[in-house]
Amino acid sequence: MKEVNVHYLSGFTGSESALLVGPRTVVLVTDFRYEEEAAESAPGVTVALRRGPLIPGCVRQARRRGWTRVGYELTGMLAVDRDDLVRAAREKKGRRLRLTALRNAVEALRAVKSAAEVEAIRRAVGIAERAGAAVGRRLRAGVSEIDLARLCARRMEDLGASAPSFPVIAALDERASLPHAHPGGTLVGKRSALLLDWGATADRYRSDLTRVFAVSSIPSWLRRAHEAVLLAQSEAIAGAGPGVRARDVDAAAREVFERKGLGRRFGHGVGHGLGLEVHEAPRLAPRSRDVLRPGMVVTIEPGVYLPGRGGVRIEDDVLITEGGAEVLSRMPRELR
Ligand code: ZN
Ligand code: ZN
Repeated sequence: MKEVNVHYLSGFTGSESALLVGPRTVVLVTDFRYEEEAAESAPGVTVALRRGPLIPGCVRQARRRGWTRVGYELTGMLAVDRDDLVRAAREKKGRRLRLTALRNAVEALRAVKSAAEVEAIRRAVGIAERAGAAVGRRLRAGVSEIDLARLCARRMEDLGASAPSFPVIAALDERASLPHAHPGGTLVGKRSALLLDWGATADRYRSDLTRVFAVSSIPSWLRRAHEAVLLAQSEAIAGAGPGVRARDVDAAAREVFERKGLGRRFGHGVGHGLGLEVHEAPRLAPRSRDVLRPGMVVTIEPGVYLPGRGGVRIEDDVLITEGGAEVLSRMPRELR
């Protein structure tokens, strides 16, 4: 079982453990290293300490409780672990266990956030915004992408983040046409533009934002691209709300680019869910079957990528409410 899902369901903060959820009991299968941590972080569950490997230990616990049918989390599972599970379930020693593979069962629950989860995400957004503003102030000729990415990460940690949500993307000028550029030694020039994609982890929850900053004068292609992205984003946000198909939010942004002849320059989905992981359900993309529901937190991040020139993406974090959508991030979006 994915660590993040064990935590979501039980509160447990350790690793290399699994949760067995039965009709009357919830059992955390862990080992002596985590005995104390389990009692503190997951007081509501029964703790079973294993001595040998995790997967046979889980099967033993299930048999001991008389379970005959067990669904297991296939999503995120290593093939080698699945192999071990199937083998242990077939062993003659005990009663045979019938296994059913489950896909994204816990992820579907995680997609809708509680009030406490939304508060944690708000905090993560606030920290990221302040760090992003600090990067904007530091942007001047001679500073490198790596300097800016490190500054951003350090500032988020100073402000109370446990870590960045993901390695900060700081891409200058034509390097911004790579949607996931790795920061390198490229230096800011007098007319540079910086694409910064960053987020903070606070209380285990994540934020994810993107802005474009200009050092001084803004070339006309960049201004036009930025206007198109801004319009696409506002159309997508305006279209987001409870009961709306995620693919329709994506389509709202895509239509703007089609109208402006930029359709082929927007190659990724318009957004993704955000929470304990930086990419989680729902998926806002052309083929998504997800439907937005109150309590979901998603990014809306259309972009335009022009190889050899640069790229523009604007990303904000949005809470789906009973009445529509609330943008959690307040940082100005205009090119400055
Ligand atoms: Zn991002
Ligand atoms: Zn994102």
